[in-house]
Amino acid sequence: MFKCTRCGEEYSEEEMMYKCKKCDSLLKVEREVKKPKLEGMGIRKYKEALSADSEIITLGEGSTPLCYAEKLSLEYNSEVHLKYEGLNPTGAFKDRGSALAVTKALEYGYREVTLASTGNMAASVAAYCAKARLKPKIFIPHDTPVGKIAQVIAYGGELVKVKGSFQDCMQEAWIEAGGGSYLAETGLNPYYLDGEKTVAYELAYQMDEMPDMLIAPMGTGGLLSSIYWGFLECKELGLIDKIPTLIGTQAKYCSPIIDAFNEKHKRPREPSSGFRTVASSIQVKTPFNGHTAIEAMVETDGFGVKASDKRIIEAIFEMGKEGVFGEPASALPLAALKKLIDPTVDRNIDEGQSIVLLVTGNGLKESELMVEKGIMQLEE
Ligand SMILES: [Zn+2]
Repeated sequence: MFKCTRCGEEYSEEEMMYKCKKCDSLLKVEREVKKPKLEGMGIRKYKEALSADSEIITLGEGSTPLCYAEKLSLEYNSEVHLKYEGLNPTGAFKDRGSALAVTKALEYGYREVTLASTGNMAASVAAYCAKARLKPKIFIPHDTPVGKIAQVIAYGGELVKVKGSFQDCMQEAWIEAGGGSYLAETGLNPYYLDGEKTVAYELAYQMDEMPDMLIAPMGTGGLLSSIYWGFLECKELGLIDKIPTLIGTQAKYCSPIIDAFNEKHKRPREPSSGFRTVASSIQVKTPFNGHTAIEAMVETDGFGVKASDKRIIEAIFEMGKEGVFGEPASALPLAALKKLIDPTVDRNIDEGQSIVLLVTGNGLKESELMVEKGIMQLEE
């Protein structure tokens, strides 16, 4: 069934739904989960814990490496791991959610799929739609990085460039969905978020002990929310003993979720000024899953950390020294960790902790920008 993430109202899954009819909030899939048998490829490994009723469409997503970062661990006197989600089939963590969301589109009998995206989700959904022989119509901001656009074209997706922000694209996608298309939106599709939770399951199997903390970037807030839900399930199934402290990171000038968290609000408000960042994947002014991301941080004794564009770029180079190339948004967790270790800024953390940084997207997607920004002086 679908359950409202705000008022708790429950709905049958008979018809596809995106929002609660009572309070207009987002829905979460609630099903009985069983211990995964780890059979098959991609997220099929976790099918006993997922909401698919048919064979999951897969391109081999997930099973990404958990790289021990030797130099960072030594420098920060901690145990740092990089979960390299940039090695998913389309180069971003989104593939875990897209695999399930597109599978459900077929189950519900849709032929057309639509969404708004800052780029990564566009590429991901286009790939899975190609595999499922569905037609995606994707609305993207006009300044989306060329690497991500190239992917959508290669997968045969229909691209509509919108002169405006992600929010403007979202409005277009809503109109399209009203016309009978399936909405495969990161922040709105409950099945997408159900697929994303496999990050938590995978860590449960990859690590002997859960880390003390996990740091992830936040755009819509969906990733942190679904990882939290995944950890709750893993604990219920006896796969893990404890849930890591969840730390969400956003860019300094685009931080509606962290601002709301710091001001003790339950839901994000729109940032009062500007929302531009070099981390285009998480340039989201109105985060749909902000309230559930805040809940994930509160419930795990976590918090939010902002980082400037300058720190984000520096972190890309630092991750590079570990042999991992991430796009700007995926360097935010390391930029946040550097701030946490620095005694002169923000909240400090103790040394000697076990930390997982989620490297959400492959650096090749924004290689042009990387070269340009890498040689420019950025404002702190
Ligand atoms: Zn509701």
